[in-house]
Amino acid sequence: MPDFANMSKNGMLTKIHTRIRSDPFTANYDLAGKELGRGKFAVVKKCIEKSTGKQYAAKFLRLRRKGEDCRKDILNEIAVLESAKLNPYVVALHEVYETSHDIVLVLECAAGGEIFNQCVGDSDEAFTEEDVIRLVKQILNGVAFLHRNNVVHLDLKPQNILLTSARPLGDIRIVDFGLSRRMDSITEVREILGTPEYVAPEILNYEPISTATDMWSIGVLVYFMLTGDSPFLGDNKQETFLNISQISVDYSEETFEGISPLAVDFIKTLLVKNPRVRATAEECLTHPWLCPVSRPHLLTTSSSSSSSSHCSSLDEPETSQSESEP
Ligand code: ADP
Ligand code: MG
Repeated sequence: MPDFANMSKNGMLTKIHTRIRSDPFTANYDLAGKELGRGKFAVVKKCIEKSTGKQYAAKFLRLRRKGEDCRKDILNEIAVLESAKLNPYVVALHEVYETSHDIVLVLECAAGGEIFNQCVGDSDEAFTEEDVIRLVKQILNGVAFLHRNNVVHLDLKPQNILLTSARPLGDIRIVDFGLSRRMDSITEVREILGTPEYVAPEILNYEPISTATDMWSIGVLVYFMLTGDSPFLGDNKQETFLNISQISVDYSEETFEGISPLAVDFIKTLLVKNPRVRATAEECLTHPWLCPVSRPHLLTTSSSSSSSSHCSSLDEPETSQSESEP
């Protein structure tokens, strides 16, 4: 049953449980100087909590953007983070501060940075297919959790998927819930267009969005993680949108050299125009590409391998979820 009391009609969550602190952020944290990243309206800086010495990422969100009060958008972002706090692959929210200009989200620090850097890196830096398989399972685990809770992320892309550490390669943390919505109450989507290269065809056609909209973006993401190429990127926005609406994708052997045919098959279940036919996050988790039994050369002598032809969505050894599973 959706929590209607916590929703506005455009799918934004409005009720939050985290206490918004009005004492100065700088009384409790030292900025470590280093900027971790920035987007259109936010800057993210590393900081150290004075009482514990622990490192966090402080996301400074401007309360006014283009002359408009954006407090509601920020509360929505906080509410989504709260709703996913039981999932290990969604970044954890530690504290929230408010000043006259900003709201500061104190987040778990994902010290390995954006996966983007290792999608386009030199061959010794770039992900192997085995790395991608492990990370994609984690992304799907996080996104399946959001979808079970009726939340769509709507901005899944390599800049919003971070790593706990880069070397050795750590685990995934999904960030940036600025565009996220409750999917059962969205009436207007025209204003929440994501990043062109990752946008699904239904968004371009002003058709209803759904959890399948995120699954399209995951298809684009996996293509990029494996090949280093953005499948729909054109010379300009119009060309990119045309490539998307025509589903013009290069699946040539040249592009996928050294990558298993199962990986290509996996991507093809996601880059499907009709959102109702597109694979769901749960279905993706049982795709043979992600199952050890389909990749016998990877089987070790340990007893961790599954004997069924489908893999469990919870075969991540480090995952301990106490959410209520369906
Ligand atoms: P925006 O909504 O402006 O895109 P994001 O939440 O995506 O804001 O943050 C911008 C960038 O800051 C990210 O792409 C990432 O590089 C960095 N960043 C965000 N959150 C964290 C975090 N918890 N740990 C480390 N870096 C982060
Ligand atoms: Mg972002």
